Amino acid sequence: MTLVSFLTGAGISTDSGIPDYRGPNGVWRKDPDAEKLVTYGYYMNDPEIRRRAWQVRRRAVTLTAEPNAAHRAIAELDRSGASVRVITQNVDGLHQLAGTPTRKVLELHGSARQFMCTECDTRGPMAEALARLDAGEDDPPCLVCGGILKSTTVMFGENLDPLVLGEAVEVTKASEVFFAVGSSLQVHPAAGLAGLAAEHGARLVAVNAEPTPYDDVADEVVREPIGTAVPRLLRELADA
Ligand code: ZN
Repeated sequence: MTLVSFLTGAGISTDSGIPDYRGPNGVWRKDPDAEKLVTYGYYMNDPEIRRRAWQVRRRAVTLTAEPNAAHRAIAELDRSGASVRVITQNVDGLHQLAGTPTRKVLELHGSARQFMCTECDTRGPMAEALARLDAGEDDPPCLVCGGILKSTTVMFGENLDPLVLGEAVEVTKASEVFFAVGSSLQVHPAAGLAGLAAEHGARLVAVNAEPTPYDDVADEVVREPIGTAVPRLLRELADA
C-alpha cells in the first residue's frame, strides 16, 4: 500500500492559535531571557529558571489548543485506510488529538503534553505535574527519585531522541508521497528529511506560506493557506 507521510512544522498549528516561537515575531526573538527557560544548562542549574518555566507551562496555550482542519484531514486520510505516518516538529500533540493514532506520530522535538524526570526518565501526563503546581508546589520534583522534572520537549542544548530520528529516516525513505507542511525546512535534521524523501523517489509536496530550500526539488509547491490546502490535497489524493 502507498505510504503517505507528513513532515509537519509550526505552520500547521498557527490556525489552532499556537504562535511560531522561532519565527521572526516569535517570543524567543523578542525576549532573549525567555530562551533560558528552554535551555537545558540554565534549566538544570537554576531553580529560579525552573520556577519560571513551570509558570510558562501552566499558562501555555499549547495545552488547551484544538486541532484544525489540516490536522483533521490527515487523521481522516488515516481512517480511510491509507497507510499514513506523521513526523512532526511540533510539541502540541494536535495530530493525536485529531485522531491520528499515537503510534503513527513521531514527535521529533518531544511533547509539551508529557513530563519526564531528568534522572530516572519516569514519564507522565503534563496535567499531573501541573496539578501539583495548582496544589502549591513551584518546582515539583520526581515522585520516584526526587530528580528534576521537565516537559519531554527537546530543549536547546539537548539532542533529538536518536530512536525517534532513526524511525523518521526509515519512514521517509519508504514514503511514496511525502508532504512537508508548515515547516520552513531550515532546522536540521528535520529539514533534511524532505531532501531524503525526494532522493528515495517519493513525490515531494511542499506546503508552506514562505519559500523553502527544498522547493526546487519538490514535485509540487503549494502556497495557499494550510487550513484549506491540506484538506484539498488529501481529497485529490483519495480520488486519484
Ligand atoms: Zn526520577
